[in-house]
Amino acid sequence: MLGADLEVPLKGGGLVRYANLDYAASAPCLEPVSAAVAAALPAYSSVHRGAGYASQLTTARYEQARHTVRAFVGARPDDALIFTRNTTDATNLLARCLPEGTTVVVFDTEHHASLLPWPKTVRLAPPTSPGAAILAADQALATITGPTLLVVTAASNVTGELWPIAGLAHVAHRHGARILADAAQLVPHRPLNLAALGLDYVVFSGHKLYAPFGAGALVGRADWPARAEPYLRGGGAVTSVAEITEWSDDPEARHEAGTPNVLGAIALAAACDALSATGWTPLVETEERLLARLRAGLASIEGVRELALWGPDYPRVGIVSFTVEGRIAREVAELLSAEHGVGVRDGKFCAHPFVRHLLRVDDGGCADATTGAVRASIGIGSTEEHVDRLIAGVRSIAAG
Ligand code: PLP
Repeated sequence: MLGADLEVPLKGGGLVRYANLDYAASAPCLEPVSAAVAAALPAYSSVHRGAGYASQLTTARYEQARHTVRAFVGARPDDALIFTRNTTDATNLLARCLPEGTTVVVFDTEHHASLLPWPKTVRLAPPTSPGAAILAADQALATITGPTLLVVTAASNVTGELWPIAGLAHVAHRHGARILADAAQLVPHRPLNLAALGLDYVVFSGHKLYAPFGAGALVGRADWPARAEPYLRGGGAVTSVAEITEWSDDPEARHEAGTPNVLGAIALAAACDALSATGWTPLVETEERLLARLRAGLASIEGVRELALWGPDYPRVGIVSFTVEGRIAREVAELLSAEHGVGVRDGKFCAHPFVRHLLRVDDGGCADATTGAVRASIGIGSTEEHVDRLIAGVRSIAAG
């Protein structure tokens, strides 16, 4: 893990080892990821264009990366994997590929990347339980005719709660709709098998998956992207340019115009390989142990309240958002950084409707819904000491 030894200055003087509890924003690179990028650099060249050795090698590595990432998310043989810049780029790309007149059904619990790109939406209120989510989707989809896409988060970036995506996929298909799962916060924490879950599309970002910034993916049914006019127009996306421009029938080429982010794709694939090699069982066990410690510690502090949509016992990944009574979230986050060397995020986490909803529900409207909450998130490299330092810091801030 890169940056594991980072030392940060404290307000009172001195240095302390950084306690990174902000993995949900971006996760530091794993060592095998930076090694894979370093190994690719000597033969660095553009892909799909040149006959030279470096170009051939780089093309092979890029396509191998696509293959690895496809396998990592359990893509079906005929699914497309289009490399994008990140999750936001991937949802926006899918929005451009929707058949004419598509209605998008989306819960108000989504990250803005999955809430905002769609031209025509039906917005559903935050459901009170996973069963209510399925029922609400069922009822909404029953009223819609024409092409429809249901959009759901696989794991919430606010509460970490795992959404019932298999059940929602089933309902979507019963109504002839398709489903997109925003897996940005799922793939760093749990295995994902798109085919087994019956999902039509998934999107995610490399920088939350222990790779550097700049690479993400849209994976899923090839027909919509294969028919859509590319919104990124340029070299590589065409088969012929004369009086008429003929766009490539291959959805991957069609939507990856220009020189792609080859190193980003190689890094993303290396991160997938590294996680697969470690295996999910030890990763999930460690995360659950640390998460239980974190939540119990926060629950023991008077005035601290954890945000949850479906109650404290509902399964979640290593993400916890909370408020501290009488304190603005930004102030808590700044004090944790300045006085304890702990990195967390504060605000509304690019999920404004959802955070406002949670703050109103949890605090009967008392919490400051304009400034949001504090979010601590766990990843590979998190330790008991990090968690304990956060709890001690929040305890002293709450005591005021
Ligand atoms: N979806 C979820 C659930 C997220 O947590 C995030 C980032 O925080 C995004 C989408 C957007 O990811 P990116 O900023 O990499 O496009």
